[in-house]
Amino acid sequence: MIKEIDMRDLMSQQSAEAQLEHLAARAADMSRHLPDAHEIRVRNMNPMTGSPATLISAHASPGSGTLIEQALNHVRTMSSVLGFTPQEVPEFVPDPHIQTTSAGTSIVHLHQHYHGVPIFQMVRAVRFTRQGAVKDVVGDNVQIPGNFETVPSLGVKDAMRALQGFIAPADVTDELSRTDQWGEPYPVSLADMSSYEPEVIATFPLPCRPTILAKGPFGDCPRASLVTFYQGPQMRLGWDFMVTLPEHQGQYEIIVAADAEAPGEILYSQDCTSHMEAQGNVYLVNGDSERQMVRFPRPLTDYPVPLPEDLPETFPGDWVAESQTAGNSTIARLGDSPVTLNGEVNGEVVTFNPSDPFGDDQKLLNIFYYCCYMHDFFYLLGFDERAGNFQEINLTGLGFGGDSVDALAHSGTVPGTANMLTPDDGMNPTMNMGLVTGTNRHTAFSADVVYHEFVHGVTNRFVGGRMNTRALSEPQSRGMGEGWSDYFALTVQNFFRDEEVVTIGTWVVDNANGIRGLPYNDEFPDHFGNIGTGRYGRACGPLGDQVCVHSIGEIWCATLMSMNRRFVEHFGRERGYNAGWRIVADGLRLTRANPSFLDARDGILDALDDLLDTGRLSAADHQAARRAAWQTFAGYGMGPNARSLGASLLGIEADFGVPSD
Ligand SMILES: [Zn+2]
Repeated sequence: MIKEIDMRDLMSQQSAEAQLEHLAARAADMSRHLPDAHEIRVRNMNPMTGSPATLISAHASPGSGTLIEQALNHVRTMSSVLGFTPQEVPEFVPDPHIQTTSAGTSIVHLHQHYHGVPIFQMVRAVRFTRQGAVKDVVGDNVQIPGNFETVPSLGVKDAMRALQGFIAPADVTDELSRTDQWGEPYPVSLADMSSYEPEVIATFPLPCRPTILAKGPFGDCPRASLVTFYQGPQMRLGWDFMVTLPEHQGQYEIIVAADAEAPGEILYSQDCTSHMEAQGNVYLVNGDSERQMVRFPRPLTDYPVPLPEDLPETFPGDWVAESQTAGNSTIARLGDSPVTLNGEVNGEVVTFNPSDPFGDDQKLLNIFYYCCYMHDFFYLLGFDERAGNFQEINLTGLGFGGDSVDALAHSGTVPGTANMLTPDDGMNPTMNMGLVTGTNRHTAFSADVVYHEFVHGVTNRFVGGRMNTRALSEPQSRGMGEGWSDYFALTVQNFFRDEEVVTIGTWVVDNANGIRGLPYNDEFPDHFGNIGTGRYGRACGPLGDQVCVHSIGEIWCATLMSMNRRFVEHFGRERGYNAGWRIVADGLRLTRANPSFLDARDGILDALDDLLDTGRLSAADHQAARRAAWQTFAGYGMGPNARSLGASLLGIEADFGVPSD
């Protein structure tokens, strides 16, 4: 943690009354010269700068030109009422993005500058009525002394050294004993910062001198640019740094004085990661257990996957953007209505705690929880922004955003009970969860079901690339789609269980056999050679003419779960599960579009070889894993001489031989 500092005197304007009278007189004078009935009025004052906090425009007519031009014109015309001297021409830089509210009010934001250098926090918003007439001006601006110097007397590297001394002081013992609002200790690893030698890697020829420094031990390259800092009543020049700390410890804006007055002084320091801390009372497994109040997002230690080295500092993103079951990865809604669940905001924490443990609110909350958990789990396994994951905003700039999961919890039943539709990257997948009437249990309360459906989204994006939605449409490919979904849904939960669960959906249908024909244990009797026959053929669906994708998937899931068991025997639980997940997830990407079981088998084996080639698996471990994988595939009829006609149900030939090498 870094100390927060703010050297501004926020109440510096001592003679507010006199100043208000003075500006009110100017406003009255100005009103006499304005066209039509346009009249302006100072409503209140900013206590630091002595400029109007709100300058109301009554009876203004819509002007000509763009709203940005009108906004700039307006603040120039009003400059004397805004506190500028008659000689001063206020310098405002507009934000090109005009905001509009649902009621039709348009807002233009103008940032005050001085000789091209932005003035810290001095921003005006000009608001327009629906008809395009100026309504008022809010915000703040400040008058700058004419002789203010914008050439720094401290270079950016020296400013960085001052910053280092500030964030990595020799004595951090009192930091060590503090805990955050969740009772977790703050991480302290700022020692590396003191040895960093600043190096400029890019600078831009603008008055504010934007500069990028070498990354060093920081989480990202530090950036700096000049800023004028109104301290009230005096003006300072500083380097405005944005630094990202390592290990997700936050991002700070720190202003280091660069003027002759006190070069190196820390003028301002603030954590600018805005966290919407959230927690929710959810069923972790299914509606049979007690709900538990858990923190959103789950801490990274709660995921069974080791953290990848290239994990961006932005991960894990907040699950909740404001105070609803809506965030960057998932928007949970009730049925087809736009209704999301509102949490209760207390300070900076939003809490979701539905009063009815089985009501609609709980359905929304639980579907939201499961989807967000899956988003973060698969991110760690490589289903990130580049891979086409489901996010509204892609913070790394890779892949397409605009495609958070639209998760619909239906109050009652819904056709298909539970499903997931996954279009190309950049378009929102839709998840539907409904009630199982036979048991009166809801699929939104079943991790088995929600996880299964979520994994359909992952495999659809992974196999054949993020822009091919038809990459799992052949009979064997579709069957594996079901198998992968069952495999991940079960193993992600089994990792934390003392006893392995080998049936899926047991709670929601209230049946120990779950929703599949056979349990996924080592007694699973069928194999690749059965595909195309009996319950693994084309006798499913209401008319008995559809490919039996779920039972074909059973053969695939049984194979993968068996391989997982062999890995756990060899590597132990943590490494075993992770080896399985890693090569299955990587294998999805290495596989051709519309793979057969044998193509997918080869993808998994290739992914295993990649672990050896990249040094993530030793030669001995690789050999053992490869043997275990081949023994499993061969045990399920997918030995090296197995055959089929593409990914169809035809030409299926099993082979139970294990390769000798
Ligand atoms: Zn499915």
